[in-house]
Amino acid sequence: MSKAPPPAPAPAAPAAPAPAAPVDEKKPEKKEKPKAPKRRIQVHKLYKVEGESLARLRKDCPRCGKGYFMAQHGNRLTCGHCGYTTYTQKT
Ligand SMILES: [Zn+2]
Repeated sequence: MSKAPPPAPAPAAPAAPAPAAPVDEKKPEKKEKPKAPKRRIQVHKLYKVEGESLARLRKDCPRCGKGYFMAQHGNRLTCGHCGYTTYTQKT
């Protein structure tokens, strides 16, 4: 394949530019999915006041220490800070 291909003929010049679309043509409206509101952590739900004492409803992260609660999912507890995950066995 040493033969260089002949230069391709230049494509025919485009004809007159396409007529501008009429202004009143309606574009198909993009349907935006309703975004779920960003859920912020509700810290007051992590504690429970029992009389004089305070109970924490979530486990602390063993890596991050106190103040970092583990998120409860279906079968696991996860730390959102470091990613530590423990699986809870269902019996
Ligand atoms: Zn952690």
